[in-house]
Amino acid sequence: ATPLSVLVGTSNAAKMGILYKAGDVFERIQKVDAICFDKTGTLTVGKPQVLTWLGDTDVFDIVWTLEREVVHPIAYAMVEYTAAQDAKAITFDNFKEVAGYGIEGSIGDEQYLIGSLKYMNKENKTIAPKFVELQEASLEKGHTLVYIAKNDAVVAMAAVSDEIKPNAKATIEKMKKRGITTYMITGDNEKAAHTVAIELGIDHVYAGVLPTEKADYIKKIQAEGKQVAFVGDGVNDAPALVVADLGIALGSGTDVAISAADVTLVNSDLDSVDKALQLSQATLRNIY
Ligand code: ADP
Ligand code: MG
Repeated sequence: ATPLSVLVGTSNAAKMGILYKAGDVFERIQKVDAICFDKTGTLTVGKPQVLTWLGDTDVFDIVWTLEREVVHPIAYAMVEYTAAQDAKAITFDNFKEVAGYGIEGSIGDEQYLIGSLKYMNKENKTIAPKFVELQEASLEKGHTLVYIAKNDAVVAMAAVSDEIKPNAKATIEKMKKRGITTYMITGDNEKAAHTVAIELGIDHVYAGVLPTEKADYIKKIQAEGKQVAFVGDGVNDAPALVVADLGIALGSGTDVAISAADVTLVNSDLDSVDKALQLSQATLRNIY
C-alpha cells in the first residue's frame, strides 16, 4: 500500500505542476547526485531564430517545404525564416528525417540535405571557402549552423541562435548547492554547447551527441557510481529519459518524452526541478 504521506506529497506536488509517475520516485530522487540537461528547448527557450543566411536564396521553397514536415526547434526556425522570404510550397518526391543530423529530400534528380556539419561530412558534401568563413565567425558566437546541400555541394548556410532560459543559471546553481554534479548532453556542436555551458556554470559537457548515444552517456555516468537524473523535452531525449535513474520531462516537450519520464514538469519551468527535489525530501521525512 502507498503510505499516506506519499499520496499527500504527490498531490501537493501536482498542485505545483509536478507530476510523479510512481511512488518510489521519491526514493530515487533522494539519491540523485548527477543531473544531465538537454540543451535545446530545455536550458534554452527552444525558439531559435535564423540570424544570418549565406549563399543561394533559390532554395527557400525547398527548405520551407521540407522543414515543415519535421517537429524540431531548428525546423521551426527554418520555416519561419523562409516563410518571411515568401517561400512557396513545392512538390517533392522523397523525404526522410535523419535524427540528430537533419533532413533529406529529393525533387526529380535533385537531392537536398539540410542539417549539421557532421551530417555534411558524413555524406561527403563539399563546402566552399566562403562558407568556412561564416562558419568560424558564427561558431565563435556560439551559434548553431544549418547547412543546405544540393547534390554534392553545400549551397547555403543559416546561422541560428536560441536564447538561454532566464532561470537556467539559478537552477544550475541550486543543483550545485545540493552537491549534485551538472552535465549538458546535446546534439548541437561543441562550440555552441560550450558557450551555453560556460555561461551557466555547468560542470561537464557532451556535445555532438546522437539521439541514440544520449542514453550511452547516462550509462557511462552511472558506471562511475552516480545516481543520474536527466531533464529533456525532445523525441531524441526519450532513450536517455528511460535509462536515467530519474527521467524528468518538460510539459512543453513531446509526448514521447513525457511518456518516457518519471516526472513531468507541467509548466516547463526549470525552477520546478529544484522544487521536485525539495518536495520528495519533505515527503520522505514524513515516512521515515
Ligand atoms: P539537440 O540535442 O540540441 O536537441 P538534435 O540531436 O535534435 O539536437 O540535432 C542535432 C543537430 O542536427 C542540430 O543542432 C542541427 O544542427 C541538426 N538538425 C537536426 N534536425 C534538423 C532539422 N530538421 N533541420 C536542420 N538541422 C537539423
Ligand atoms: Mg531538446
